[in-house]
Amino acid sequence: MTRYLDCPACAGEQPFEQPGCLDHHGVDCPEWFCSACGVAVVLGYSSIARRRITTVAA
Ligand SMILES: [Zn+2]
Ligand SMILES: [Zn+2]
Repeated sequence: MTRYLDCPACAGEQPFEQPGCLDHHGVDCPEWFCSACGVAVVLGYSSIARRRITTVAA
């Protein structure tokens, strides 16, 4: 499956693919990888959100 997304590393639209989900998201997996440079993006989440900023206050 290929989807065209704006790649932050390529600074332009590139074909993105899902080589395989490791987190059992299934068909709803939000993770896409740029075919041109290999960078991963997560749809619906910022890269900052993946760093679990909610644990900062603990
Ligand atoms: Zn790219
Ligand atoms: Zn996934």
